[in-house]
Amino acid sequence: MQSDKLISVHNLSVAYERKTALWSVDFDIPQGVICGVIGPNGSGKSTLLKTIMGLVPPVGGNVKIFDSNLKHVRSRISYVPQRESVDWEFPSSVLDVVLMGRYNPKNLFKRTTKLDKEIALNSLEKVGMLSYKDRQIGQLSGGQQQRVFLARALAQQADLYILDEPFVGIDASTEEAILAVLTELKEQGKSVIIVHHDIHTCSRYFDYIVLLNTRLVAHGWKDEVLTPENLKEAYGSQLTILSEVANELSKSASPIREKSYDDK
Ligand code: ADP
Ligand code: MG
Repeated sequence: MQSDKLISVHNLSVAYERKTALWSVDFDIPQGVICGVIGPNGSGKSTLLKTIMGLVPPVGGNVKIFDSNLKHVRSRISYVPQRESVDWEFPSSVLDVVLMGRYNPKNLFKRTTKLDKEIALNSLEKVGMLSYKDRQIGQLSGGQQQRVFLARALAQQADLYILDEPFVGIDASTEEAILAVLTELKEQGKSVIIVHHDIHTCSRYFDYIVLLNTRLVAHGWKDEVLTPENLKEAYGSQLTILSEVANELSKSASPIREKSYDDK
């Protein structure tokens, strides 16, 4: 039977030498949602994504994606790591970076086709970067680079998009543009997982939330997870945060989020 689970994480523990980064974490995420992975600095968010992507080995436990092991579904997943970890010394044009999304790891030496190029150009248009296609990637601003990263992920035409802190260091218009693209992916039935550390915007951005602090604090639909008790457990007694989030939640409880874009 086909499961509707996007990801099931079972009893997952991860350590770097002696430092425990994740401890016995257990949760699942349904398909077709935009899911936020939230928690304070150092709470294991990036580690969780890296473990899901097979880049960091777990000490114990396991991860199933689309009810399967990573190796069988890797081509259906597009992963955009945290920006600092990418070496931009490598000189490539914006279009080349996006075309990397079209490479098939099973067939690295295949030439890119006309269709690949068309898909890459389309992806650049979606994120508003088509006119930059011939620029060197290293010469773009942080927000522009982030848009190009997203275009590369789109060009891959994956079923699951995993992004680590895509909204850090970018301007408000890029944040909205990225969010609009992710919402469109969701409307096409795709799934999105985003590491995010600004809890003020979580209730607006996400349907589903995994709240971490080395251990799993809570997971589920956002209204179930974003409670003062859970946030206090994850963030400690930073009470200003709690009242601000309560404020945001009461705003998002209005019917605005139910409104369809066609109604405009
Ligand atoms: P987050 O993304 O939530 O900020 P991380 O997953 O990056 O947290 O890190 C979780 C913990 O593991 C932190 O205490 C961090 O210092 C530690 N850590 C992360 N990467 C490494 C590494 N490569 N070597 C040693 N410790 C690491
Ligand atoms: Mg991180």
